[in-house]
Amino acid sequence: MVMNMQCQATKKDGKPCSAKAMQGKKQCFMHSPACKQRRLIAQRNGGLARKHTKCYISEEIKLESPKDIQKLIEVTLNSLLKGKMPAKSPASHVAYLSNTWLSAYEKGELVERIDRLEGLVQKAINEN
Ligand SMILES: [Zn+2]
Repeated sequence: MVMNMQCQATKKDGKPCSAKAMQGKKQCFMHSPACKQRRLIAQRNGGLARKHTKCYISEEIKLESPKDIQKLIEVTLNSLLKGKMPAKSPASHVAYLSNTWLSAYEKGELVERIDRLEGLVQKAINEN
């Protein structure tokens, strides 16, 4: 097994870099001149990722009913469609979220119908 040696570069503060050198190289990823382009891309992507790791809602969401799920999906869909949320494949996310919304809607309808029926049954029991 080949052990990576220590990076040969010196940091801005004059101290030796403490990172391991890349396999077969004398420097780590951050100090290798050959990796400058990849490093810039990684830094840019990291910046983009950080830019998007922000809060999408102003208050905590409580999930207690299918209607709460629907609301969450609506907020998420709006963020996604307005470009406020990163997505590699927005169309597939929209399709998935729409399906989830529909499922929550149908379950919500069922809960409401069962509640109404239970109310009617209880009313009939109370009347007899
Ligand atoms: Zn280094």
